[in-house]
Amino acid sequence: MVLKKAKRLWDRVKNGANQLSNEESPQSELKIVPRDNHPISRKDISSPALKVLYRLNNANYQAYLVGGGVRDLLLGLHPKDFDIATDAHPEEVHGLFKNSRLIGRRFKLVHVLFGREVIEVATFRGHHEAPALSANQSTSSEHGMLLRDNVYGTMEEDALRRDFTVNALYYCVKDFTIYDYANGLEDIEKRELRLIGDPETRYREDPVRMLRAVRFATKLDFTIAPDTEKPIFELSSLLGNIPAARLFDEVLKLMLSGKALKTFRMLRHYNLFGQLFPATERSLKQGPERYLKLVEQALINTDERIKQRKPVTPAFLYASLLWPALEERWEKNKSSGTPPFPALQQAAQKVINIQCKSTSIPKRFSLNMKEMWEMQLRLPRRNGNKAAQLVAHPRFRASYDFLLLREQSGEDLNGLGQWWTDYQASDENAQRKMSNSAREHGPRPKRRKRRPTGNSRSSTH
Ligand code: ATP
Ligand code: MG
Repeated sequence: MVLKKAKRLWDRVKNGANQLSNEESPQSELKIVPRDNHPISRKDISSPALKVLYRLNNANYQAYLVGGGVRDLLLGLHPKDFDIATDAHPEEVHGLFKNSRLIGRRFKLVHVLFGREVIEVATFRGHHEAPALSANQSTSSEHGMLLRDNVYGTMEEDALRRDFTVNALYYCVKDFTIYDYANGLEDIEKRELRLIGDPETRYREDPVRMLRAVRFATKLDFTIAPDTEKPIFELSSLLGNIPAARLFDEVLKLMLSGKALKTFRMLRHYNLFGQLFPATERSLKQGPERYLKLVEQALINTDERIKQRKPVTPAFLYASLLWPALEERWEKNKSSGTPPFPALQQAAQKVINIQCKSTSIPKRFSLNMKEMWEMQLRLPRRNGNKAAQLVAHPRFRASYDFLLLREQSGEDLNGLGQWWTDYQASDENAQRKMSNSAREHGPRPKRRKRRPTGNSRSSTH
């Protein structure tokens, strides 16, 4: 329905665009689409974004809505956020809004804060080919990666510095027109993602654009244009040059978008997943089939929760994505004689340390992940009053969900998930009976004989 509406409006856009060839620069052909010929209405734009646009315009600066805000409205979707581009410098923007802060090193930006809504205001960027003279200007690394990009420029230059053509559309709130420098409107109609400029150069400048290609392809249901797609397979390893903290943020954007399963499959297709989760990728290739089932089921569940507007936590996501690598290492530790619990703890620490080299994991999440993993060993031990204690544990719910996930992926845990499901649905009396008759899962560990001298290692349970 939304798509049909967008299609009808598109016919109007096509027929109504004024083409102006830009004499000053032969790089782009500007199309200006008047209000009557496109579907964007001010009522679709959040009032904080409108306020920022108006205040910048009233202070005699140029200001446009740009990026995902324009793209998504043209596609009949609800934008996640609204980004604004202006010719005002960051300090000038900051001076206009008390409720703003200057952020970023690589890209200096201003965030204008309205309660929970953040409007990102970026100053038009210029070309970066000029030799870098100071820290304020563009610099690039030996791999062709842009380290800083704070050279300011014109609106046209800004458009051509953006990643995909469909992200380089500008909406003007003064006359309600859309400015299209890079043929983005046509690509929206074709539902195609196309990098602006030479794809390989653009990926080298910023390898995260490869992840963005996948994210937008799944989010928008677009295809990636052949020229834009081709270099990804060979350049995926450039992600190794990106700071781990930035990649953590990108993983969350990729996996918490509501299209995690599709995204995961596409990332693997382009050899990108292995760059983000190298240990998991190895286990998926070498390990049993149920590893892939577990990861995919976790992503299916994540997508479902997002659809139902239920909360999803990065800790659960990461605990699932790293489980195959964790289990393999745990088994290895056990088979070299370490008792199960310390074997699990050591494996957890190792897997997290290795992962943090690719994508960092903030402490608050890694602590929760470890607890969820350790609970997998504690959940089978539910006799006496242990079950009641476990249910009261702050990580019980997530750990129980994780247990179900393991069973869903084909791991045989002797009906443990069902036992916990029944336990939670029972009254106190029935719970006591269940606990009294609960047999611990699997054979009891043999008691270790006390060594005659000190220095004995003891397992924690
Ligand atoms: P969404 O907000 O829905 O994730 P978006 O397109 O708005 O999508 P943002 O990350 O909010 O993405 O960025 C806003 C705009 O900034 C983009 O549309 C694009 O024009 C530009 N941009 C962002 N990241 C890059 C990049 N790595 N290289 C070039 N341009 C970029
Ligand atoms: Mg955005």
